[in-house]
Amino acid sequence: MTIKRLKALKYLRTIIRKWGGTLEVVTAEKYKVIEKEDCHGIGLWNTSSVSGYAIHWLDKRIVIRDGCNDPGTIIHEMGHVFLDLDGPDNSDEYSWLGWEICLARKAHCYRSWSLQNSDYGVGCEWSEFSNDTSAIWGNLSKYNKTLLVKDRIEHAKRIGIVDRHNNPIPRR
Ligand SMILES: [Zn+2]
Repeated sequence: MTIKRLKALKYLRTIIRKWGGTLEVVTAEKYKVIEKEDCHGIGLWNTSSVSGYAIHWLDKRIVIRDGCNDPGTIIHEMGHVFLDLDGPDNSDEYSWLGWEICLARKAHCYRSWSLQNSDYGVGCEWSEFSNDTSAIWGNLSKYNKTLLVKDRIEHAKRIGIVDRHNNPIPRR
């Protein structure tokens, strides 16, 4: 693991603790049990689309399988834990994309966040900028990424999850 990644993980772990959550690394065996318990609902395990990352929404726990260490994915899971007021199944992920970006910048891992996000569907809202409703983050031009980042951060500020100094704020 690179020093940069290690530092990002350390930073995220501190923030998670500060917001009343935990980041736990478990063995592959234990992770398998968690995956089986996955019931996709409030208070239950909800595993990420990326293998090796899970959250227990009610308890604000983020659990990662030993060896998984992508800060970008952890940031996304943090969004579910700290922002989804009605649980991850009723998430409006697009509303907190700017929050993720601000957190990635604070953790100095924007590049790895952007990479792990390459197949993120930017969806219908993106049609404000282009007619391509199936657009994904990884395929956007640099210019369009800049537009989207600006738009999403402004939105995050409007709904009160990012402060005027670009600090991400938890909602629960
Ligand atoms: Zn998600």
